[in-house]
Amino acid sequence: MKTKWRANSTHPDDMSRYREWLKVRNCRWPISITIHLTNRCNHDCKFCWFDRNDSRVDVQKTIAAISFLIDRGLQEVIVSGGGEPTLHPELELLLEFLADRSDIHRRLYSNGTKLGKLTTICKAFDYVRVSVDAFNPESHSTIHGTSRTAFGQIIDALRDLSSSNVTVGLSCVLIPESDQGLSDLAELSEMNPNFFSCSKKG
Ligand code: SF4
Repeated sequence: MKTKWRANSTHPDDMSRYREWLKVRNCRWPISITIHLTNRCNHDCKFCWFDRNDSRVDVQKTIAAISFLIDRGLQEVIVSGGGEPTLHPELELLLEFLADRSDIHRRLYSNGTKLGKLTTICKAFDYVRVSVDAFNPESHSTIHGTSRTAFGQIIDALRDLSSSNVTVGLSCVLIPESDQGLSDLAELSEMNPNFFSCSKKG
């Protein structure tokens, strides 16, 4: 199994700025990394652009690599997925490691239905972004290809996250099917996210 590393932003303009920054700071090592823990996912979004399968990274090697990079100036770890990162069977190991690394920024990007024990998540990360992509159970079920109860689980998790110390982000990819729930947008805003990003697709 292969660990995938990439710079946080791959937009050509951002990359050239990043390279310039590295030159000016005489820095040879990345300051931010994104780890795609697993390609597995429990959802089936209409807009999903990932090649979902059961591949996953070796968590022990990932921890060793993060430690190596922290010693060389790494400032941020983003745990994300070509799938849903919380489905990695050895997630707990990584969470334990990250809980002791509050000296760096630690972000989690998730679809929000398998966050499990939020106290553990809140110790391991200082920012949690949940991809909601819908505004009510019906539209969420249609867009994410999951059960109608999933939306309620996400709302419960968001409510708990909002009352914790972590910074909370919500993200929505808007597709034509999103229109059916737009009138319920206000309910999501009541979760008091610190960041709310929407992007249009299709
Ligand atoms: S939650 Fe993410 S990885 Fe899973 S199906 Fe949706 S877009 Fe794809």
